[in-house]
Amino acid sequence: MENKRIIVIGGSAAGPKAAAKARRMDENAEITIYQKAADLSMASCGYPYYIGGFFDDRDQLLCSPAGVIRDSKFFWNAKKITTKVNTEVTSIDRKNKTIEFFDTITGEKGTAEYDKLVIATGATPRKPPIPGIDLEGITTLQSLPDADFLRKVHDEGKIKKAVVIGGGLIGIETCEALHLAEIDITIIELLPQLLTFLDKQMAKLVEKYVQSKANVILQNGVSAFLGENGKLTAVKLQNGTEIPCELAVIAIGVIPSTKLAKEIGLKIGQTGGIVVDEYMQTSDRDIYAVGDCIEISNLITNKPVHAPFGDLANLQGRVAGENVISGNVAKFPGTIQTGICKVFDYGVGSTGLSEQNAIKNGITNIETLVNASLDKPGFMQGKILVTKLIVDKSNGQVIGAQVLGPGDVSKQVAIWAMAVNCKLTVDDMANVDLPYAPPYSLAIDHSIATAHIMQNKLNGYFSGISAEQLKEKLGRKDNMVLLDVRNPNEYEQMRLGIGEKVIPLGQLRKRMEELPQDKNIEIITWCKISLRGYEAALILQANGYKNVKVLEGGLMAWPYEREK
Ligand SMILES: Cc1cc2nc3c(=O)[nH]c(=O)nc-3n(C[C@H](O)[C@H](O)[C@H](O)COP(=O)(O)OP(=O)(O)OC[C@H]3O[C@@H](n4cnc5c(N)ncnc54)[C@H](O)[C@@H]3O)c2cc1C
Repeated sequence: MENKRIIVIGGSAAGPKAAAKARRMDENAEITIYQKAADLSMASCGYPYYIGGFFDDRDQLLCSPAGVIRDSKFFWNAKKITTKVNTEVTSIDRKNKTIEFFDTITGEKGTAEYDKLVIATGATPRKPPIPGIDLEGITTLQSLPDADFLRKVHDEGKIKKAVVIGGGLIGIETCEALHLAEIDITIIELLPQLLTFLDKQMAKLVEKYVQSKANVILQNGVSAFLGENGKLTAVKLQNGTEIPCELAVIAIGVIPSTKLAKEIGLKIGQTGGIVVDEYMQTSDRDIYAVGDCIEISNLITNKPVHAPFGDLANLQGRVAGENVISGNVAKFPGTIQTGICKVFDYGVGSTGLSEQNAIKNGITNIETLVNASLDKPGFMQGKILVTKLIVDKSNGQVIGAQVLGPGDVSKQVAIWAMAVNCKLTVDDMANVDLPYAPPYSLAIDHSIATAHIMQNKLNGYFSGISAEQLKEKLGRKDNMVLLDVRNPNEYEQMRLGIGEKVIPLGQLRKRMEELPQDKNIEIITWCKISLRGYEAALILQANGYKNVKVLEGGLMAWPYEREK
């Protein structure tokens, strides 16, 4: 039997993974990667950290775990994979199973035959079609040359003001990188919140924190780039404001690169990505597609989504690599859209559906909870975590979680991602045996405590109110008693200042007469994280108060201005 000829178009994340897996499955296959860019296997997720100076050796972006640069020589010596860099595939002939390509440096053209083809052409950054877009000083952050340009900006230290357009993951990561170069940054976001995968309250907490490092302008877009002598001097907003700047980074999302696929009539989905089945096979049985150029299924809603994430690109590449050799044996079922982002000293991550996304998708019978606690004991320098949990009330299943704060967010998001992926319920989560020792966790981990409070809420033992709901009530001037149950010294250091009474938890039983005699009056309790707030609520209920609510997450989850 003749050796199988596998051609992979795209040599960044998904493509090389597919090629490497195919090689592991078949020592004799003829595998070739065509890569338009000059480099291979670039760790694009590392670009913001290279730009920000977290490390200085650019080669580390291109290295294998063993520290070898993944260039053409490496691919051939270690994996017997032919790689053609600076080579763009310009067309595919499905009937004759060939591709046409050209060398972007020499202009040389050629054709090659395949038995199986893998399209891994990635995505291209969106750019607003507005005046001045071609001025010098405007960039995206998608390619290694983009990262080189911004690293140069960092090293030269000449630029003093920059604008980042887009408050998504890449925009925020770029903001931190440029902030480390002591550049004064303004983030501009068209929508009313940063990081749209978060619910409003969580996004507002992020915004409040980012505001301490950069200017944040929401609900405003860029209408023009202004310049002199071909160089950017300012960004003009839709409301007419002009923001002087020498640098603008556009990070308003990416579009699947599907030109080749469209030209040959492969099925394209409603999100703009190439349609594949769970084997990563396109509408042509000899062509597979993986990574940022495809659309996949959201495992909770079963709706198609474009999920441009590096982990998914690699998982899909692995599946396609196996299937092009062995027939359709491996499956990639879909995504729960887990993501995480470093926001200065905070981690911010999410998995599954947010509350707003669940409702948008018709899942309305849900319960939510915001919980705040340390990630490990105070004596081990525990740091705050704030989690919002979303549960399907009809069966208790966890369908989403968002976590943020200076604590170990990654671990929390990973725990909830497993819960969502494996369709675990709150009851399942309540007694999970996680590892515990003080350097790593609390005796009851933050995630498990969150499950416990949600269990209490579902069982009717805990009645919570979110910061957003309380803010609305304050706006309406509802008749209620606001009760901070921390100690006076804590109150002196930090307080909401919204008309609250202060009765420390330890004195509450003795000072009950200070509260209104009307047992139907609404009372809202809190403390720093609302653990004491919860205990206070139980004492009040035991004393006959019928309408007591705990401010979920306490002061730590309050995203609005505080008096102190
Ligand atoms: C700054 C940044 C930070 C990120 N951070 C994270 C993160 O923290 N976590 C995370 O999960 N994801 C992150 N991502 C997303 C992640 O990098 C992508 O999901 C992943 O790179 C997608 O891999 P891919 O191989 O599908 O596409 P790409 O990485 O886009 O690669 C596609 C390749 O195909 C080549 N190509 C295109 N057309 C042709 C053609 N016609 N012929 C030949 N070659 C072609 C291109 O040159 C390109 O190199 C980040 C992305 C960026 C840009």
